[in-house]
Amino acid sequence: MTIPIKAGYTPEQRRQLASTKLDQFFGSVPPDLYQRVVSLPKRIAQMNARTAIKLQEVLRTADLIFKHAEPFAACARGCGHCCHVHVPIADFEAQYIAHHTGSTPRALKQNVHHERSEFSAATPCIFLKNGECSIYECRPLTCRMHLNFDIDPYWCLHENWDQPQAAIPRPDILPLMEAYHLLGSKTRPIVADIRDFFPSGKTT
Ligand code: SF4
Ligand code: SF4
Repeated sequence: MTIPIKAGYTPEQRRQLASTKLDQFFGSVPPDLYQRVVSLPKRIAQMNARTAIKLQEVLRTADLIFKHAEPFAACARGCGHCCHVHVPIADFEAQYIAHHTGSTPRALKQNVHHERSEFSAATPCIFLKNGECSIYECRPLTCRMHLNFDIDPYWCLHENWDQPQAAIPRPDILPLMEAYHLLGSKTRPIVADIRDFFPSGKTT
């Protein structure tokens, strides 16, 4: 789906509108959900469960809070410009995706670093099919967090990535990231792009 770009807005106007929408989003989160998000790292640290179960709780909490972002974010189903950028995931998340898709991730021995310049309109995520995420239910946390509170996907267009004013206004929900990093605390996780773990997508 192509979301039309709204004409006539300056970067500053976009920034201000996004800032207002971000405030509205945070203001719409019920207090009990807010507490659930804030307490997530502590709950994860205390959980006596497999990493996959803990990750599921992190993803579920992310979904609960970002459900409240829907009226304010520019994002919509099928708008996949963001599915061409670097998608860093940890090995435990690759295992989670593999378990839910029946695929086999590559066993990487070390982190794989990527430069921003490696990504373009020609580098879709391996799981982007017909413009939509084919692993939506088990997509990585970073994808769930990649929300754009601008009025449209203007800054997400590939031709705008490198503009000096390019800025995707999105919420930083630090407890989600903190909880995610706790998942790999016992053994240092391998971090790489999703394409490194799944070079051929869902086929094993
Ligand atoms: S982050 Fe940008 S490209 Fe991705 S769904 Fe949202 S508006 Fe579209
Ligand atoms: S996993 Fe899905 S949402 Fe994430 S980049 Fe790939 S296609 Fe997009």
